[in-house]
Amino acid sequence: MNFIETLKLRSKLLFIFILITFGLIVIAITGTLNINSMKKNVDSLYFGSLVPVTELNKILQVYNGGLANTIYKAKNSEIAPLDVRTQINTSLYKIKKVWAEYESHFKRDEELQYVEYTAHEIDSMGIYFSKILNALENGYSLRDISINSFEKKIAHINQTINQLISYEVKVARYERKRFLEVYDSLLFEVGFMLLMVIFAVMVISYYVFKSIQNDQTELELTTKKLKKANKKLENVSYTDSLTGLYNRRYFNLVYEKELKRAKRTHSYITFMMLDIDYFKQYNDCYGHIEGDHALKSVAKVLKDTLKRPGDFVFRLGGEEFGVLLTETPESNSAIIARNICDAVRGREIKHKESNVNEFVTISIGVSCCIADEALKEEILITRADEMLYKSKDSGRDRYSITTNVSEAVPKEVNNKLSAS
Ligand code: GH3
Ligand code: MG
Ligand code: MG
Repeated sequence: MNFIETLKLRSKLLFIFILITFGLIVIAITGTLNINSMKKNVDSLYFGSLVPVTELNKILQVYNGGLANTIYKAKNSEIAPLDVRTQINTSLYKIKKVWAEYESHFKRDEELQYVEYTAHEIDSMGIYFSKILNALENGYSLRDISINSFEKKIAHINQTINQLISYEVKVARYERKRFLEVYDSLLFEVGFMLLMVIFAVMVISYYVFKSIQNDQTELELTTKKLKKANKKLENVSYTDSLTGLYNRRYFNLVYEKELKRAKRTHSYITFMMLDIDYFKQYNDCYGHIEGDHALKSVAKVLKDTLKRPGDFVFRLGGEEFGVLLTETPESNSAIIARNICDAVRGREIKHKESNVNEFVTISIGVSCCIADEALKEEILITRADEMLYKSKDSGRDRYSITTNVSEAVPKEVNNKLSAS
């Protein structure tokens, strides 16, 4: 059944369809053939035995009824000689006709001698009655007829025809027996064929369905693998390859989603913009590769500091990072920002070109508010950016926080922006 495995799903179903159709055709042919042979048997039983017996009985009736009656009545002068002739002629004609019909049916070889003998006896009876008719025509009276010899003749023809009847009945019994045998064999043959076809269909169906199931399992496995690969791909596309943090693409998704959630639940949302201080100088001093290491170290500090499920850390580009905090009030956001500054500095990454510290430091701008419908989508980012500018401006290695998320630019920031 290996070849089933190699078929495609459509071909497998087609195969099973063809198999069932073929099975049904075989059953139909077997059934039709057997019914045909049964029909032949019924025919032979009916026309070969039943009808002939009826015909022979009809002939007997004419001899015993019609002819014998006429003779008895004529002997007693109960009917006129002309009527006697008509009745004898009619009866003889009837006998001739029914006998011809009887002879026209199929006869077996062994039956022929009986038939010929009976035909001969019927002819003899015909001659006997012809003589009576001649005598009547020549004016003889039927009173002179010997009733004894007439009765002997009638008894003889009765015996002859009854012999033929008993032979026909014997044949009928034999035919009936054969018919029942054919009927039984038909039942067996069709039943057996049906069983074979059902069995074959079941066996093949089993293999086909097993194979379909295997295909299904394989498909499910492949789908699972594909899903896994997709997830991996998705992760890759949302991850910054250098630091392992989420990238800007993912930030755009998360920011929009979390902002909507906060607006819906009227809860706190905090955004932080982080930027390493004097990082250009760091690169210039220690080289780009060391710069990358420093970026990775800062990323690790951020990851280690922000572990809550509602906290997200992103590398937004270059040496800039973003932090999104959910359900964190202003005071807590400020503590977290300070902790980040302390942790980055505490990592003690040597930076001799920095003007604020001997180690790498970071500046943070924080915007925090309770979200509501009026909150503009970009305002948190804009304000955090302004706060970052403020931190840089007021000496770096620090955070600045605002809860003002109205669209108007804060006065102090505005002043500084115009001063720079
Ligand atoms: P400030 O304190 O005002 O932020 O000064 P800065 O020097 O940090 O700011 P600036 O924006 O002038 O310099 C950013 C530098 O960050 C420029 C670039 O050399 C460095 N940088 C950006 N992306 C990468 C990176 O992927 N790897 C490395 N090694 N350096 C990077
Ligand atoms: Mg920068
Ligand atoms: Mg910088």
